Amino acid sequence: MYNTFRNKKYAEDHPTENTQIWLCTKERCKGWMRDNFAFENKPVCCLCSSPMVSDVRMLPLLVNSNDDLKTIKKDR
Ligand SMILES: [Zn+2]
Repeated sequence: MYNTFRNKKYAEDHPTENTQIWLCTKERCKGWMRDNFAFENKPVCCLCSSPMVSDVRMLPLLVNSNDDLKTIKKDR
């Protein structure tokens, strides 16, 4: 009961959305990053330098930072 309540409360405080991310292609590597920076080229994993593939995950919604970064990039 308590856990259910806590999870619900957390979900309300931290809404999630389908977020574009980059996922490391190397097996067992946990490297991934949000597609916050609108890469012009495919990024490489910051942990093992393997190529990364585009994917979508449900992640807590980031207020401001995500949109701000993309807006800044687009204007240039
Ligand atoms: Zn990796």
